[in-house]
Formats: sequence, structure tokens, C-alpha cells
Amino acid sequence: MTALVHAREWVGGAAMVLLLRRLCEGWGGSSQQAAAPLRDLTRAFRIVVVPVANPDGFAYSWKGRRHAAPSGSEPPTAGHSEQGDRLWRKNRQPVPGSDCIGIDLNRNAGPPPAAAAAAAAAKAAAAAKSAKGKGKGKGKGKGKGGDKGLPEATSSHPCEIIFGGRAPFDGVETRVFRRLLQRVDAGARSLAGAGEAGEAGAAAAAVPKWGKGKLKMYLDTHAAAGMFLTPWCYKKEVPAGAAGAALADTARKVVAAVDGATPGGRAGIRAGNCYTTIYPASGVWSDHAYDAHGTLQSGTYEHAMPVGGGGGGGGNLWMPAPAQIASSTDQLAALVRTVAHEALRKDAPMATLKGQAVAASTPEDLLL
Ligand SMILES: [Zn+2]
Repeated sequence: MTALVHAREWVGGAAMVLLLRRLCEGWGGSSQQAAAPLRDLTRAFRIVVVPVANPDGFAYSWKGRRHAAPSGSEPPTAGHSEQGDRLWRKNRQPVPGSDCIGIDLNRNAGPPPAAAAAAAAAKAAAAAKSAKGKGKGKGKGKGKGGDKGLPEATSSHPCEIIFGGRAPFDGVETRVFRRLLQRVDAGARSLAGAGEAGEAGAAAAAVPKWGKGKLKMYLDTHAAAGMFLTPWCYKKEVPAGAAGAALADTARKVVAAVDGATPGGRAGIRAGNCYTTIYPASGVWSDHAYDAHGTLQSGTYEHAMPVGGGGGGGGNLWMPAPAQIASSTDQLAALVRTVAHEALRKDAPMATLKGQAVAASTPEDLLL
């Protein structure tokens, strides 16, 4: 599970840390509905949590806060300066050829479809050229004509907050995420090598054989649209057959579970496939888990926030009052239990890529 891929979405990180505490204590939550122990989950799963998946972006958003409340009763308000910006979303990585900073990491885990198509066309053209000596195919570059062909919520412009990077996985954190999933999926005992190592070769050699299918669920948490999003974000189609039916079933159960963990019984979250429920986007982490690892129960949770953002933040959804954290954690705990339960079902169909068993593929194959 990951949180704070987007720096400003603080409640995701706070709820994840509190959930971790509850997992460690075997405690399900403060509400009646969430009273079932989470202890069972820790017996059934090895749970890997990255509570701050975008550390430099998060630090930058932290430095941008104003009037941090010593009492803890009021949320910090937004501000920005040279030191930081409370509403920063991307990481803080320099972008070659641009004065603008940062990559939207949740647009960077895989190629935008347009880039993949252009790369495939260029490859085909190059192959034709070398075969014939003089090919007529043209490998048209992408991006020059703006964002034609990209999903609407992904940009190739570095100054945009939804900038997906110059290339897939050129974000440091996205590469770490990719390696971490590989190690978890392979059942590696140690996950330490997932980080950026001084000797990249040694780190690569330490990665166990990829694709053992140990990654049974993946959940990325964001704020604050109040949604549970299943694959895919980059295309309108939903997974076919039993996989699609299982995801729709999970989505329905998640809504019920989150409602059940909400005082009054209605959180008002929407659930469904990402593309139509929120917006089309490419390079999304939960799509990567699904496509590259065949992890069926893979989704993105957008925490729900009360209208007005909890007060004190000028109605900003990313600045909930601290008091919001416990109830958000109740909802998250209910959701995690639900998705995990679905992942444990013996008859759960595994996702496949192009009809092929995922374990037979390699990560490189999947980048197209
Ligand atoms: Zn987000």
C-alpha cells in the first residue's frame, strides 16, 4: 500500500500511518463497524506500506504550510514561498530542458498510450528501414504537437501539475515503486534493495526472479475525490470476463464497507473503473500493478472529505482538520479489509495480460 504519491494529499499519509499502528496493535478502528480485528490480515498477508511515496514533494508541501496549529485543532493553511508550497503535488526532480520542477509520479508508471504507439511505430519503421535499406515508414515523434493522443489528465508539459515525465519511469520514486513491486511479487525476503542504489548493477542483480505472483493486492491512497478506482485509467474498457466482474464486485463491496465505517452510514464515495469514474490518465500506479503483475485487486482510493475540507482551509479538500484523520482511517481500514478479503478468495481470477499468464512475461515486455 502506498500513500502521499501526491505531496499535498496529506490525509492519505496520516491515515496510512494510523492504520499501520492499528495493524500493529491488531485493532480494527474506533467505530462499531470497524471493530473486527485487523490482526487476521497480518496473519494472512505480508503487508508492505510506503506511507510517504514522494518524500521530497511532501517535504516541500510541509514547508509551504502556514499557521500550523499548535493545538492540533485547526489545519494548517496554504501558503507558498521559495521554501515550499502547501499545495505542491509532484516530486521535486529537475526536468531536463525545463525550468519547471517535478514529475507527477502517478502519471509516470508506464508509457502514455500515445508514446507507446509512437515508439512502436518508430521501431517498426526502423526495422523496415534496415530490412529494405530504405524504408518509407516514418517514426513520428510524440509531444511536438502538444498533448494530442494523451489521456486528458496526463500532460507532456513540465510546468503542468499532471506532467507525466520525459519518459516512463524517469521519476526516481516511480522506479523505486516498480522495483518494490517486483521484489514483493517475487516473495523477496528483503526489500531493502528496492531503493536507488549506488551500484545499480549490484541492486539489479539482487532482484529475485520476477513474477512469482506474490503481489495479491495493491492499494494506492489519495485525496480527496471520495472514490475507489479500479483498472484502467488509460482506457475506457474494463477488464473482460471474470476479472472485470470481480472488480465490479469489489467496487460494490468497498462502497458498502466505507459507508459502514462512516457515522450516519453514508460516506458518499463512488466506485468504478478509473477512466470513466474520475478521468482518463496514463502511468497510474494501480494500473501498473494490475498490468505488470496481474494483481487483480489493484486500486486507487481517493479519501472522501467533508464539504468544506474540514474547516480552516478555505474549503480546500487537501487540508482537512486533524480531527478528520481518525474517521478517514476507520474508512480506510474497512476498505483494506474488504479488498484483502477479495484478494484471499480462492476462486479469485487473476488478471492476465493479452491473454498470457503474467508470470511468463518480463517487465520489459510489458512496457509497451
Ligand atoms: Zn492524488
